Amino acid sequence: MLKFDLHTHSTASDGVLNPAQVVERAKMHGVDVLALTDHDSTQGIEVAQNAANELGLTLIPGVEVSVTWEKQTIHIVGLNIDPACLVLSEGLKAIQETRIQRTQQVAERLEKAGVAGVIDAMAEVAATGNVTRTHFARYLVTQGKASNVREVFERYLQPGKPGYVSVEWTQLETAVQWIKAAGGISVIAHPSRYRLSATKMRRLISEFIDYGGLAIEVVHGGCGDNVIEQNTQLAKRYNLLASAGSDFHDPNDRWADVGKLRQLPSQLTPVWSQWPIGTGAMYEADTIVA
Ligand code: AMP
Ligand code: MN
Ligand code: MN
Ligand code: MN
Repeated sequence: MLKFDLHTHSTASDGVLNPAQVVERAKMHGVDVLALTDHDSTQGIEVAQNAANELGLTLIPGVEVSVTWEKQTIHIVGLNIDPACLVLSEGLKAIQETRIQRTQQVAERLEKAGVAGVIDAMAEVAATGNVTRTHFARYLVTQGKASNVREVFERYLQPGKPGYVSVEWTQLETAVQWIKAAGGISVIAHPSRYRLSATKMRRLISEFIDYGGLAIEVVHGGCGDNVIEQNTQLAKRYNLLASAGSDFHDPNDRWADVGKLRQLPSQLTPVWSQWPIGTGAMYEADTIVA
């Protein structure tokens, strides 16, 4: 029985652990096949790959691309990508540039709103990886502006709040093209988090498939049976491959720890059925364990 976790973050974006530590924690939790999928970055993959080789687990190179679709942010995970692909790396570089500009704007707004030292703190983060809203949230917690990250999002970082800056990420079609160019499989990440109407969800998936998208994340960290059931229906209806990933960021987030996942429903075709892993064997849906 192989255990898969195909959605995780490191310090290359908004994860708390560095790429080697993510791999170590995955190993500790019995993960056999791990994808590192940092936001708009493949920077952590080389270190993660080396750690995975040492510890004897399979590392799937991945990325989570930020997309703006019908004015909303949608995340597309790319799995089994070649990080050296220029189409992908140049594309990600453009998003990284957008992030640098947004970081500057958000930090200035927050300083004006009374958050001291935020510009300098984010400059420090930028030295390790992409700066995200999560980094702002963690900093504001340390400054006593809220008691937890979620509260910071509500008070400061969501639309209409003092630290919100609207950004235009890349287009859905473009993200899928980059991932395809890099030899990877595109996955619609955590579909239930977008709160789309049924009509809009259908439109998103149809477009995604038209562009060459192949998979949907059916199981993710902290999702309940209802969400799994809804996602299962979507996967079946659109004949999409099914992915499963914790969306791990922080060992303190108990609801989304690496390797802690519900089972992928056995009637679905797992995204990993496409990959010859380890010995070259193919694996069945029911090989995932919670
Ligand atoms: P960004 O891509 O910089 O806008 O940051 C998005 C990241 O912020 C997501 O990947 C999550 O990790 C985190 N995030 C978004 N909304 C929330 C929320 N309400 N509470 C906690 N974390 C959130
Ligand atoms: Mn994140
Ligand atoms: Mn995401
Ligand atoms: Mn994620």
